[in-house]
Amino acid sequence: MSAESRQRLSEQRRGSGNPNFGRRASDETRAKTSATRKGRPQPSSKRSAHTRYHTNKGVFKDTCRYCVEDAATTTNEESGS
Ligand SMILES: [Zn+2]
Repeated sequence: MSAESRQRLSEQRRGSGNPNFGRRASDETRAKTSATRKGRPQPSSKRSAHTRYHTNKGVFKDTCRYCVEDAATTTNEESGS
């Protein structure tokens, strides 16, 4: 599939274009998901996930707002004197 096709499909299937838009998993499915996730630690915030998986590993993702924000802050600090 070409990059253009991927991009077009990606946009078509956002929001109300998503086949699952407005649907909610059944109570049975939700219970299963819940059971699977029990006892598995989740980051307390997106910021802490960014710090753990990006900052601490030297990873930069331009899709991560904190990476972008941090990069902007660092650039400003370097240029200002
Ligand atoms: Zn990040």
